Amino acid sequence: MNTNDRFLDANIPDDLAAGIRPKTLNDFIGHTALKQNLSVFVSGAKARAEAMDHVLLYGPPGLGKTTLAHIVANELGTNFRATAAPMLTKQGDLAAILTSLEPMDVLFIDEIHRLPTAIEEVLYSAMEDFKLDIMLGEGPSAKSVRIDLPPFTLVGATTRTGLLSNPLRDRFGIDLRLTFYDIDDLARIIMRSASILGTEIDADAARQLAASARGTPRIANRLLKRARDFAAATGADRITADTIKTTLFQLHVDGMGLDEIDREYINAIIRHYAGGPVGIDNLAAALSEPADTIEDVIEPYLMQLGFIQRTPRGRVVTDAGYKHLGLEK
Ligand code: ADP
Repeated sequence: MNTNDRFLDANIPDDLAAGIRPKTLNDFIGHTALKQNLSVFVSGAKARAEAMDHVLLYGPPGLGKTTLAHIVANELGTNFRATAAPMLTKQGDLAAILTSLEPMDVLFIDEIHRLPTAIEEVLYSAMEDFKLDIMLGEGPSAKSVRIDLPPFTLVGATTRTGLLSNPLRDRFGIDLRLTFYDIDDLARIIMRSASILGTEIDADAARQLAASARGTPRIANRLLKRARDFAAATGADRITADTIKTTLFQLHVDGMGLDEIDREYINAIIRHYAGGPVGIDNLAAALSEPADTIEDVIEPYLMQLGFIQRTPRGRVVTDAGYKHLGLEK
């Protein structure tokens, strides 16, 4: 398994087909306060028959940003249009999407921190005044035109708000931060997904799986699907605690949800840099992984567990991190 399998897995269409992705705020498990607020904002916009204010969703991959964007459109009763910043390379790409929106539509832009500045600038007036300012032609004959857009709601998702420019961030009226899920919520997500998939799972098995899901619903669902495979392979009609033990062992996932990449990361700091501090670029070179993948995908959960710390001089493995690998500092 590599980091891409873990987080950008291709099981999203699969999820949709199986109906695992929650479609309403009621189905969305956990994050109660966030859901309550969102429900108030949706009702307010509907009562006024206005487009809802723009929403910025942030948090590590797999915590439900795309799901919430779908839910907002669904609860508003509007169309859902989606794109991702890396797909928008020219101002015209964004202009084409904006001009094809219908009033009150939800436009979802994933990885919004990756928008090129020139495209980001087009968004400012689109978000603020529902106007599109674009240049037609090039050189001396170029002229700027202003086009009216229908009112719409932009939902932007990012793994890191720190990379968002201030002018863009300021244009979002609603800021929602998704954090890692606790074991109770993950166990509920697993039970819900299992019932949609038509798989029986024991309550203690669901909790065990939840404890190894890195606080992340996407990983919980992925592990559940693999556990279903291992149960089927042994002819079992349900997923038991034993099935989970086998699944985690075969996938090299430990009781805290760490897999080979996580252990390699901690080991690299210990072996090559005497436990740190080490800068992210050196670490990226040692692991042959892009620095932003390490920052988005590996580090947040290890920090949450207290296994590593980010200091101004670089990453450091903590006593708990050493202990988890059975090493002494
Ligand atoms: P992100 O956009 O943050 O990377 P997604 O919205 O794609 O994450 O969520 C990943 C998967 O996890 C979804 O397919 C969905 O099935 C599941 N999921 C996420 N959040 C929840 C939740 N709160 N309740 C139930 N399932 C969830």
